[in-house]
Amino acid sequence: MSGEINSLAEADRALPSPSLRATIRGEQLFITDWGTQLAGPGALKARSIPEGDQPAPAIVDLAPLGDENEELMVMHYDERQDLDEVERVIVRWAGQVGYRRVWLAKSVLDVDFPESGIPSAHFRCPTCSAELSGDGADFWIAVRKMKMFPPFCLTCGVEAPQWDVSSEQDSPADGPEPVSKEGQK
Ligand SMILES: [Zn+2]
Repeated sequence: MSGEINSLAEADRALPSPSLRATIRGEQLFITDWGTQLAGPGALKARSIPEGDQPAPAIVDLAPLGDENEELMVMHYDERQDLDEVERVIVRWAGQVGYRRVWLAKSVLDVDFPESGIPSAHFRCPTCSAELSGDGADFWIAVRKMKMFPPFCLTCGVEAPQWDVSSEQDSPADGPEPVSKEGQK
């Protein structure tokens, strides 16, 4: 298990410092500012993950890159997590909130805004049950300037998951994936 990462040792030293921490729980994504008070990568890998039917929440760090922070590096993977699921949720969110490129464990992806019209975003606070929604150009320009949905509930102020996004057209009951590539114009 000693890995073949000698050639990566130098690259590893050049990794940027994360500025955000992301927790993925099912389809929910929580974003919070990174801080030295948080568990470091070593502690994350040592944390106990309860066994059960539900996959345990995954935690990674994020580093915005580039002159205008248009790129996002996903860092500090824990190999015990379902990396495909972690990356799918992060890439989908990154496209919604205005990143152009995401650096993953083994690939780089160009991402973009969902193609099918201007979507709407919805939020239900798990703490106070407030419900909010947003759509239209003004809303999305503000989100994409901030590069995230509000990381806390605008009603009670408690940290809250990123918003759900559904396409403007029919929203299928069993999956809010706003991706359509039928070649329609
Ligand atoms: Zn609330």
